[in-house]
Amino acid sequence: MTILVTGGRVVSPSGATPADVLIDGERVAAVLDPGSELAESAQRGAERVVDASGCYVVPGGIDVHVHLQLPMLPGAVSSDTFETGSAAAAWGGTTTIIDFAGQILGSRVRDAVDERMAEAAGQCAIDYAFHLSMGDVDEDSLKEMPTLVAEGITSFKYFMAYPGAYYSDDAQLLRAMQQAAGTGALVMMHAENGIAIDVLRDQAAGRGDVEPVWHGRTRPAVLEGEAVQRAVALAAVGQAPLYIVHLSSAEALEQVAAARHGGGNVFAETCPQYLYLSIEEHLAQPGLDGIRHICSPPLRPAAGHDTLWNGLRTDDLAIVSTDHCPFCDNEKLLGVDDFRGVPNGLGTLEHRMDLIHQGVVAGELSLARWVETCSTTPARMFGLYPQKGVITPGSDADLVIYDPDVSHTLGVATHHMNIDNSVWEGMEVTGQVRSVLSRGSFVIDDRTYVGRPGHGRFLRRGLSDYLF
Ligand SMILES: [Zn+2]
Repeated sequence: MTILVTGGRVVSPSGATPADVLIDGERVAAVLDPGSELAESAQRGAERVVDASGCYVVPGGIDVHVHLQLPMLPGAVSSDTFETGSAAAAWGGTTTIIDFAGQILGSRVRDAVDERMAEAAGQCAIDYAFHLSMGDVDEDSLKEMPTLVAEGITSFKYFMAYPGAYYSDDAQLLRAMQQAAGTGALVMMHAENGIAIDVLRDQAAGRGDVEPVWHGRTRPAVLEGEAVQRAVALAAVGQAPLYIVHLSSAEALEQVAAARHGGGNVFAETCPQYLYLSIEEHLAQPGLDGIRHICSPPLRPAAGHDTLWNGLRTDDLAIVSTDHCPFCDNEKLLGVDDFRGVPNGLGTLEHRMDLIHQGVVAGELSLARWVETCSTTPARMFGLYPQKGVITPGSDADLVIYDPDVSHTLGVATHHMNIDNSVWEGMEVTGQVRSVLSRGSFVIDDRTYVGRPGHGRFLRRGLSDYLF
């Protein structure tokens, strides 16, 4: 099937240009000057012509940090499945997700990967890939790293938080970094000092301070900054590249910026919740309203939002992901009497492109930077470029036709994520996905879902483009 998307402005990290996009089968065949002879002959020859007048045509969004159907606590599994989550992603203009195969203490890396592959197989409406999150670093686990890299799982996540579950100590982190350095893999880090945080959490609970706000107060930003600094030091010693996930605070950003200024191979992502939501306005609400906003790292004071937007402008924050990990109210309420019992995570997968586009509307980011942080850099960082992240001949025809003039309100009544609450309830944004193609097939066609589970394929990723 040949499709011509005509009349729109194609957006890339170098700006927006009027262009017609010719799709042949699963790939982009040509990007044509509107009105040129080639464009006119493509228009005559195409089996379908899609009018994108007034719209942006952007490379499909890539969300590199997603947790679908993740068992978190007994009785709490993140509520979007690969089927519902991948469909919701498409509704929001995301055409590739990277989830995690999670090895936990006492289990084998290979089993974790095999199980996760089986769970996702045949379920996704869009393409997907995995990182490996390694919760039990030892000789056997590390030995799997080169094998997984060869299989297209080229990034490995470690935790400085959650002692007794996913936590790695400094010795384990250093060994993992040394192993990564030898294989070309990218080390991802959840940087919070979990040992110190656990002291504060237990002290708070011991005093009877169990309201949701204490989730935030017991995870102070200084302990995120400290963990980033330590991770940077270990990565320098281990000579490994480092990617900080879900960076939430100015304290942590300062460490990333310093490391990068010093020439370190250090990168970071942030998430929309850390750009828009705050401890005082959201997490500090009593009861369920506060509980719904429990995620880690926690929401920070609104005073820090400007610093993070600035980090996105300067590239010290290279990527916006979501850390999508939604729970319905009945699961969140497992911790109604004690914030320590609340499954951590928010649902944002569907709204990432809109929320960062809202930053363009508000003058925080350029249009080019929107596409760069949400699609192009994610592709380059995680070994998917130029198959993904760009509209150019030969790349996958993952395209979003985005109408920048439509205003809409986010919330449970209109979202497609499988959650009965929304931390974005009532937020008005300008700009909305009109149509989405994944490898040349419509997933969203003029605001109608026409995707299907099983269209999405597992992507074997290469090494990061940014490592040197
Ligand atoms: Zn996460």
